[in-house]
Amino acid sequence: MKALVAVKRVVDYNVKVRVKADGSDVDIGNVKMSMNPFDEIAVEETVRLKEAGKISEIVAVSLGGKKCEDTLRTALAMGADRALHIETESPAEPLAVAKVLAAVAKQEQPQLVLLGKQAIDDDANQTAQMLAALLGAPQAAFVSKVDLSADGVTVVRDIDGGTETLALTLPAVISTDLRLNEPRFVKLPNLMQAKKKPLEKRSVEELGVDISPRVNIVGYAEPKPRQAGVKVGSVAELVEKLVAAKAI
Ligand code: AMP
Repeated sequence: MKALVAVKRVVDYNVKVRVKADGSDVDIGNVKMSMNPFDEIAVEETVRLKEAGKISEIVAVSLGGKKCEDTLRTALAMGADRALHIETESPAEPLAVAKVLAAVAKQEQPQLVLLGKQAIDDDANQTAQMLAALLGAPQAAFVSKVDLSADGVTVVRDIDGGTETLALTLPAVISTDLRLNEPRFVKLPNLMQAKKKPLEKRSVEELGVDISPRVNIVGYAEPKPRQAGVKVGSVAELVEKLVAAKAI
């Protein structure tokens, strides 16, 4: 059984991004970039499924600029078998990414497609759902447990106030939540070995997908600084202040 796993190169989660002075974009020049944390979880899950003998091949795919190669090499070092780099320097919205991934899925015919629940740069939380719709495949988002068999996949997904267990037929699209697993640490020898694994380039044009933007971003702004809080001396004083502020 083949798994396709989508990995996005994003600003590292430890970096605090700043808005450019003209408000046209966020400034990501010279900041540390990493694999999207939810995608690391997705790769880890496919590797665990392979180690358990339930998957025979893991294909990692990334859409973006030249440097996405580093992200794909990390996926290969974690245990993916081969990588596909769909190279473009144009920014791609979730629908465009979903269309590209759908075209790749049609070529690769995976039984399981794993994505992160959201990319921590755009926080869109849309791509997996759109991809499932485009493929006409069953989907489960925010998944915290995966039980794969030849007939289908049973997943536990996080929902408000609890969990939900779903049984999906294959091929299926899954997006990973934080509690699914803890990704392994990539060691240097694995990174060296990963250099020998196949990394193939395909263009957006070859896939026949139009990724031109549909959304016009008008501007970016920093959130307003929060005012310092005050400490109250007693519950009575707290209630008094809340009443005065018409909060209760
Ligand atoms: P989003 O809908 O943008 O929050 O992204 C959700 C997930 O879609 C990510 O965690 C990735 O697994 C996948 N994804 C989004 N953009 C890309 C990309 N450019 N290349 C590969 N995968 C992507």
